[in-house]
Amino acid sequence: RSARERLLDGSRRRSDPEKTPAAERRLHFKEIYRSFTPAQACEAGERCLMCAEQANCRWTCPLHNAIPDLIRLAKEEKIMEAVELSHRTSSMPEVCGRVCPQDRLCEGSCTLKSSGGSVTVGCIEKYVTDTALAAGWRPDLSQVQPRPERVAIIGAGPAGLACADVLARSGVKSVVYDRHPEIGGLLTFGIPSFKLDKQVLTLRREIFSQMGIEFVLNCEVGRDISFSQLLREHAAVFIAPGTYKSMTAGLDNENAPGVLEALPYLIANTRNVMQLPEDPDNPFISLADKKVVVLGGGDTAMDCLRTAVRQGATSVTCAYRRDEANMPGSRKEVKNAREEGVEFQFNVQPQRIITNKKGHVTGIEMLRTELGEPDASGRRRPKIIKGSEFVLEADALIVAFGFQAHAMPWLKEGNVECDKWGQIRIGLNPRYPGQTTHPRVFAGGDAVRGADLVVTAMADGRRAAKDIVDLLEHQSTEAMEVAS
Ligand code: FAD
Ligand code: SF4
Repeated sequence: RSARERLLDGSRRRSDPEKTPAAERRLHFKEIYRSFTPAQACEAGERCLMCAEQANCRWTCPLHNAIPDLIRLAKEEKIMEAVELSHRTSSMPEVCGRVCPQDRLCEGSCTLKSSGGSVTVGCIEKYVTDTALAAGWRPDLSQVQPRPERVAIIGAGPAGLACADVLARSGVKSVVYDRHPEIGGLLTFGIPSFKLDKQVLTLRREIFSQMGIEFVLNCEVGRDISFSQLLREHAAVFIAPGTYKSMTAGLDNENAPGVLEALPYLIANTRNVMQLPEDPDNPFISLADKKVVVLGGGDTAMDCLRTAVRQGATSVTCAYRRDEANMPGSRKEVKNAREEGVEFQFNVQPQRIITNKKGHVTGIEMLRTELGEPDASGRRRPKIIKGSEFVLEADALIVAFGFQAHAMPWLKEGNVECDKWGQIRIGLNPRYPGQTTHPRVFAGGDAVRGADLVVTAMADGRRAAKDIVDLLEHQSTEAMEVAS
């Protein structure tokens, strides 16, 4: 039998990198996955069938990374060529390698998925970039011709950073404004360090600064600087402020002491782990020795559960209204949470938050559900089972139901319109899909599409940067024609 036949019949199975044992990782916030060794990366790459140009993995990746070529170069140990290739389509491949839900994207569509398991694309991507960066690889912009224009970027999350990266590679100077003291957006302040070590962003900040990108941090647009000033002083603006309005459960007592919003809880914990000064408006909360219940089944819920475990909670329970197969989060993270001691209650619906005489939460009354007909999204709608009430005891209850666009009244200064959900409107001009209702203003990431993924935010930022460069070139050609 040929090597290809052996791969397709599943004889050569996928092997994942080692993880820190669960008992040990419960004690700290360090990343849990070990890196591939060169031999492991090569062995993983040997499994790839090198599907042609139309490889499924490539087309299901929102950045359309050239995955088969990347794997070939990694296998041949041509790390510097591989990292250059990665950066043609991605602005932070080491971040995507760590946090992308590959099981739903590239690896979810790999030809070998049912034949021994998908190729470990994410781990190879992480291995290549980490190895190249550790060996001193840095982007070479020596051949780039600088342009005279400056572009302002609002938000230093993955969308804003990706836009700045592509602009710098096209010779356009950008100034990135963010209200936080560090770059990264949710990469730094939302996603916990056991999934993404904060040193990754520290190094990227150094690299982006060396590329000429300027960061203005601790600066909130609409409070510390006006949007109209940014419009006046820059040739174009890219808006990527994310979505920060937490969705609520709509239950009585939701403001009771002991009921926490997911993101402020995670942000305060990350600031504590990073030893940044405490934010007086959002103080650090330790759930040590507490019984914790988290409502929700997405990535944010998993991050809250695993953070509470590491803080030393006595019990940590996830309560989710559908079954495990219908959870929106990455399968890998559910498995990790379970290994770390998280208990799961599936098919349950919260009814009532229970409090003691002092008004502090003591538990939550739940009803069991069964799955009914599919809803508009195709997922089966939960149906309540009558008389199935039960109480989950809790000293702390974290609501992790996702996020919606927050109010951005300052957008009016530039006549930038939002849709009925408060998301910034784009897509009105087929030539520039990321353009808003203001011709010099572009937008992307969660603020446009609703809470989504790091990789889609990055794709939006890169595409907007290309649109902006095209617009600037078009404007300067027109100006030259008028002058001649
Ligand atoms: P953000 O990352 O939110 O960045 C926006 C930035 O804009 C922030 O830094 C904010 O401070 C700044 N800002 C906002 N308003 C202003 C203003 N007026 N002035 C100045 N600055 C401003 N996705 C994955 O792919 N994998 C995961 O594992 C994953 N885990 C997640 C875990 C959690 C807890 C959360 C909340 C999300 C997770 N996501 C994950 C989703 C992912 O983080 C987001 O989709 C992505 O970060 C969106 O990028 P963005 O650039 O649009 O916005
Ligand atoms: Fe390799 Fe799988 Fe992509 Fe095919 S689909 S090129 S086997 S990673």
